[in-house]
Amino acid sequence: MSVLARVRPDLVSFGAYASARRAGFDGAIHLDANESPWAPIGAPAGSNRYPDPQPARLRTRLAALYGVGESRLWMGRGSDEAIDLLLRAFCGAGRDNVVTLAPTFGMYAVGARLQGATCRELALDAKLGFALDPECLLAMIDANTKLVIVCSPNNPTGTLYHETLEFLAESLSGRAMLVVDEAYIEFASQPSAAALIDRHQNMAVLRTLSKAHGLAGARIGAMIAHEEIARFIGRIAAPYPLASPCVELALAALEPTALACASRRVRTVVADRERLVRLLEVLPCVGQVWASSANFVLARFRDKRAAFDQALAAGIVLRDVSRLPGLDGCLRITVGAPEENDALVAALADPMPVREVLAHGAGPWPAAIDVERRS
Ligand SMILES: *Cc1c(COP(=O)(O)O)cnc(C)c1O
Repeated sequence: MSVLARVRPDLVSFGAYASARRAGFDGAIHLDANESPWAPIGAPAGSNRYPDPQPARLRTRLAALYGVGESRLWMGRGSDEAIDLLLRAFCGAGRDNVVTLAPTFGMYAVGARLQGATCRELALDAKLGFALDPECLLAMIDANTKLVIVCSPNNPTGTLYHETLEFLAESLSGRAMLVVDEAYIEFASQPSAAALIDRHQNMAVLRTLSKAHGLAGARIGAMIAHEEIARFIGRIAAPYPLASPCVELALAALEPTALACASRRVRTVVADRERLVRLLEVLPCVGQVWASSANFVLARFRDKRAAFDQALAAGIVLRDVSRLPGLDGCLRITVGAPEENDALVAALADPMPVREVLAHGAGPWPAAIDVERRS
């Protein structure tokens, strides 16, 4: 079966918009794109030109970073754009569906709705630690299912599902694409699922520079997939998804020293995530904290509203996810810099035990606090 067999039939022979840069002619004088011959005063040279649709240097760097062949990479305006394009490429409006989890990242349902596709959600159980039963997920697939989207680590629960991905890809072979959103994989203990694409051509993996690389402002993300799918997504994408200044920012962030710094910061976040979990667990206002493989922590509060307001009064903004399925009373807390996390814990705390906890750092808890918590 062709890799593109499940693409929308009406798009299979779709010709891309023939932009001037795509035509790829090289010359000293470019009179082919209605650009100005001059960049504005103060702007970098070349700003008057449309950018390369897929800048070669960035492609080489990102392919190396992700350990994949360049032909498997498509780069866009954040992984959000890749999600949108996958939905457009595979789902016929009013006919097809996608299957995903609940709770999960809201953009899948938004994108599906915009495309006129139905979004089927497998409810995860907080009491079971949001565990994913692959058989339940597969039971939701029918002939019109085009994409199965698994966010791992999952936003907003922090749960990692990488152990079930190969089984899912195998089971979905010839039926649907398995899209794995790895926006937070740098914070997890497992390697990327991109290597599975060698054996499973019905997989697409989404990566981004927005989280671990600190470049949310530049909007750079990537889809890794079989080269025919990568090429197809490039064909249906807007002609110039990557703005030149953003490409420069990304290239700077992919220099060896910047990469080394980014991985040190990831280690700091991971260490402080574990510390934050332990600090939250002993707060009287917290009912439950879930283990996380991402750069955020999900917690259920005894009085969510009071906790949110208490943090806000201290100038700290949290994400209220309590309206997502199964998450009543829950807030999502991004792991900030250690002093920011301390500020949050202090704001949420009954002053007494927490001062003690902070004084003891990330080490094992003094028995007194344990006793107090269980009583
Ligand atoms: C933040 C986030 C993204 C968005 O990434 P961009 O590359 O910034 O578009 C994608 N998926 C999930 C699950 C996210 O939380």
